[in-house]
Amino acid sequence: MQSLESIYKQADAYLEGHFLLSSGKHSQFYLQSAKVLEDPKTAQVLAQKLANMIKEYGLNVDLVCSPALGGVLAGYELARALGVRFIFAERVNGVMSIRRGFSVKKDEKVLMCEDIITTGGSVLEASKEVIAQGGKVVGFAALANRGFCQRVGSHLSAKPTCKLPNDVPFFALGDFEFEIYDPQDCPLCKDGSIAYKPGSRGN
Ligand code: ZN
Repeated sequence: MQSLESIYKQADAYLEGHFLLSSGKHSQFYLQSAKVLEDPKTAQVLAQKLANMIKEYGLNVDLVCSPALGGVLAGYELARALGVRFIFAERVNGVMSIRRGFSVKKDEKVLMCEDIITTGGSVLEASKEVIAQGGKVVGFAALANRGFCQRVGSHLSAKPTCKLPNDVPFFALGDFEFEIYDPQDCPLCKDGSIAYKPGSRGN
């Protein structure tokens, strides 16, 4: 398989500019995973590779759960590759909830899946809802790790900002390490440009 970086670049999903991230931080780069996943064949290949890593590790999974909206495509394809069912959690009035008749049975082994895990905030919130319903969170998965958390098989160690529990394995196909800045320290702001939200200028 090509490198994850080349797959993102080929899909015009590795954007360069001056971005305002949902965390409030600024970055010169942005990964638009939806662009990678708009080709179902690419989504299938990536999910299959991730599923193979998870199987080789020996993890038993009963279902995959993703936080909406970003994690849904990756999670659905991963569930297909693992041959298990898929549910999603969504934010209602700011609170991550499991709705739509989805449920988690007691002691079901749940793999949480995102498109990209930065510090893991959303996926962790969704995992708490799974646990509240009686499920067991046995792993985290994403297409890519933004370099803040430690994934299985990478030399990178977790940074203090990583929110994922360190006793649950995290699987991803690769690491993307680029800097993010607090607005007051952002070199792009210092150069006089203005950060904008990804998607607001047609990307
Ligand atoms: Zn900036």
